[in-house]
Amino acid sequence: MLMQVLVAFALAAAVVLFGHLAMPAAGPAGTPAAAVQAPGPAAAPVAREAAPTARPAVRVHTVAAGESLSAIAARYAIDVDTLLGANPEADELIHPGDELVVLPQKGALHVVAAGDTLWALSRAYGVGVAAIQAANGREGDALAVGERLFIPGGRPRGEAVSRAYGQRFAWPAAGEITSPFGYRWGRHHAGIDIAAEAGSPVRAARAGRVAFAGWYGGYGYTVMIEHGQGIATLYAHLDDYVVEGGQHVAAGQRLGYVGDTGYSFGAHLHFEVRVNGQPVNPLQFLP
Ligand SMILES: [Zn+2]
Repeated sequence: MLMQVLVAFALAAAVVLFGHLAMPAAGPAGTPAAAVQAPGPAAAPVAREAAPTARPAVRVHTVAAGESLSAIAARYAIDVDTLLGANPEADELIHPGDELVVLPQKGALHVVAAGDTLWALSRAYGVGVAAIQAANGREGDALAVGERLFIPGGRPRGEAVSRAYGQRFAWPAAGEITSPFGYRWGRHHAGIDIAAEAGSPVRAARAGRVAFAGWYGGYGYTVMIEHGQGIATLYAHLDDYVVEGGQHVAAGQRLGYVGDTGYSFGAHLHFEVRVNGQPVNPLQFLP
């Protein structure tokens, strides 16, 4: 029942969201006149007129608590790549209340960039020009920058999407969370604290490149790893570290040891996940 409400809302939202994308041809102009003209066999033509053009419906799904990308994709009978292709910003970060664009079938949503042409898109996605035109209810080949086109059957461009999805995070240390992410005592805690014995290993939560390893003010000995797509992880208060800047590390690779360096009270690992420089709740990423 909640689902139906959500779907109804999603349809309304989709209209709002994509209203400006709709082709002018999809407007209702002309239908009333046609309906008035036909006296006898009105039923058939009117019914046909009432059905909108064969443009596929792009919907919006509001993420519910506990929902995963794969569960949402399965619900709409599309695959995760299709879902990520239409919501590149979603990546592994979805929260309840987020709105995801749901494509009507497997495919990709392409935001037109300067210089894009239908021919170039056709080549890039391996989908015929006619199929792209039909799926978007258009005849001409003019594209507007910023316009969104549904590419039926198109694989999302940028294998980064699937690569990112395939790389799950792993816990950087074993232990209890003694301080969560968010506000505490009037201060914002930019990560989580994991209690662990001094000297126990700290491991890379995901493969990446070491962006920093060294003393980092109140963070004490710290390692920061960049994972691509604007995602970075940070490991602080280390007793010691065993990697150096520029080095590539595998997920689970040892970075150093739990310690009590910097502004710290007792041995623990302070672990942060940053997206485009902004700390986010690591629990959204950790399994
Ligand atoms: Zn902390």
